[in-house]
Amino acid sequence: MNNIKKIRTRIAPSPTGHLHIGTVRTALFNYLFAKQNGGQIILRIEDTDKKRSKQEYENDILEGFEWLGIGFDEKYWQSARTKIYKKYLQKLITDGKAYISKEEAGEGKREEVIRFKNPNTKISFVDLIRGRVEFDSADLGDFVIAKSLDEPLYNFAVVVDDCEMKISHIIRGEDHISNTPRQILIQEALGAPRFNYAHLPLILAPDRSKMSKRHNAVSVNEYRKAGYLPEALVNYTAFLGWNPGTEQEIFIMDELVEKFNLSKVQKGGAIFNPEKLNWINKEHIKLMTNESFEAKILEFLPVETKKMALANDKMFSKILPLIRERIEKFEDAAKMAKAGDWDYYFKRPEYEKEKLLWKDESDLNNVKKHLKKIIELLEKTAVFENEKIKESLWDYATEEGRGFVLWPTRFALSGCDKS
Ligand code: GLU
Repeated sequence: MNNIKKIRTRIAPSPTGHLHIGTVRTALFNYLFAKQNGGQIILRIEDTDKKRSKQEYENDILEGFEWLGIGFDEKYWQSARTKIYKKYLQKLITDGKAYISKEEAGEGKREEVIRFKNPNTKISFVDLIRGRVEFDSADLGDFVIAKSLDEPLYNFAVVVDDCEMKISHIIRGEDHISNTPRQILIQEALGAPRFNYAHLPLILAPDRSKMSKRHNAVSVNEYRKAGYLPEALVNYTAFLGWNPGTEQEIFIMDELVEKFNLSKVQKGGAIFNPEKLNWINKEHIKLMTNESFEAKILEFLPVETKKMALANDKMFSKILPLIRERIEKFEDAAKMAKAGDWDYYFKRPEYEKEKLLWKDESDLNNVKKHLKKIIELLEKTAVFENEKIKESLWDYATEEGRGFVLWPTRFALSGCDKS
């Protein structure tokens, strides 16, 4: 390991798609490691692929990180750094470590590319998670590092940037491990000190296949729209490859900064478990203040329910604790509201009177009699609490047959088939 003066990490997303869970996990681990060491984390937008990079994706990535509370000390865009890469490409060519090669480009055309002169050595590095990793660089040949002086390829631009930005630790997904020997060769050719590497385990679907859209939502936006809390997503993502080694499962960012341990990250694939995410989200919902819970619910409610809720503030405050108990994510509340499950709190239910008939009952007069009696009993109930209400109705219901009494009572109040 080299002599580390200052911890500097980076997250280097390419804006070729929406911000996804894998990038969030990489960013989070870089963030936690930098912050717990009093270091810095850098965001580098790797937008050199002009065809595939889109402003829309870049905005999505930036907004996503902001929403999650993952902040950066510095931000860079590779597209603005072409001159820097050119300078280093020229240096390597001058030093005889890279060369321009004229190559067949099909249809009789010839094209120039810049190739790295491979010293054909054995390369080994100690990965902070995987331990010693060895490669024979001869397998790589004289690989292409740029299409021209103005068009560096990924491996080259990354190394130049990591050197220039004085990155101390490269923490990234295991899918990049095969890039590492090329990058080490380039770094050595540039005469720069070795970086520390940590390759994070892949994130796998519950069936251990590579996680993809087929299994679960992978884009942060989808989770945001479904009403997951950013704190919960951060908490859950921290567990994709790491755990504190204690029983504690609910963490806020500051605790993660304190407890996270890069060297304890597992080597094996991290399984993405949506039930666990739901559970963690529910736990974070429990931690919300009443005010923020109410605001969040209102954000998710369908317009009609929202109107009723705002017009009947007292009732709305009363049912908020019930809603809180019942949802895992805010989308659940929206679904219940849409299904009309809460309408009876705000307006008299409308239904056909036959709906009041319990299974074998056919006489609405009986129903009427029961409901009258129930009203009478309720009027005598001193304290309007679950247990007291039940107490005052129970004997009568038991005598007359519970279904015959309780079904119409509940239906008359709610207008709903299910309670
Ligand atoms: N731009 C690369 C990506 O989107 C990451 C490069 C790196 O971390 O070295 O996967």
